[in-house]
Amino acid sequence: MICPRCDSNRARVMVTSPVGNEWEVYVCEKCWFSWRSTEKIKVNPKFKLNDQKIAEMLIIPPIPPLKINDDKG
Ligand SMILES: [Zn+2]
Repeated sequence: MICPRCDSNRARVMVTSPVGNEWEVYVCEKCWFSWRSTEKIKVNPKFKLNDQKIAEMLIIPPIPPLKINDDKG
């Protein structure tokens, strides 16, 4: 299965509906995008990922420097 965000072939079924065969949820093991079988997925080209963009992703947002309160009043 092809991931609609990074175009890798590492997408798989993550979970299926517990009753009947109503829906499935898929996940990409490369970029961790997930989506439902009931959605029509269309990823805007601006939000597509490639190897370079994935490598440059930050894990967590950086913490800004502390603001020291110099106000002695
Ligand atoms: Zn992906």
